[in-house]
Amino acid sequence: MKGSLHQGEQPAIVDEKLWAQAHQVFKETERPRSLEKPEPQDAILRGLLFCESCGTPMVPTYTVRRRARVRYYTCLSAQKHGWKSCPTRTLSAGTIEEAVRARIHPHSLNAVPVAEIVERITYDGVSGQVRITLRESHLGREGTAL
Ligand SMILES: [Zn+2]
Repeated sequence: MKGSLHQGEQPAIVDEKLWAQAHQVFKETERPRSLEKPEPQDAILRGLLFCESCGTPMVPTYTVRRRARVRYYTCLSAQKHGWKSCPTRTLSAGTIEEAVRARIHPHSLNAVPVAEIVERITYDGVSGQVRITLRESHLGREGTAL
């Protein structure tokens, strides 16, 4: 089949993932500065939030709407391989941060960084479920407090 293609002709079916990867590489070489993605400094769940579907980190990002900055966490896999590769895609940063704050409320009174309390957060975009894993030291403290 491949041999029958004439030069300049496109195969009818392109592997979507491969195409997305190739496209990504092309974009990066075309515009090296795009590698420096603007990341909001107040992304408190940076490095803690993971996409349940892909097992990859969800990274902080934002868009500007009507001059206001709207923050998101975006699945790294979706960002790299295209939206169709992941059902979770993005999550409103405000929503997830509020959910985490509500969960760790007793600790937040001490103004402890989230990363010291929370070990890992996973978000499942299909069911909308958030799973928060607390660090063991804090689970122990919670146990004695009760
Ligand atoms: Zn994902």
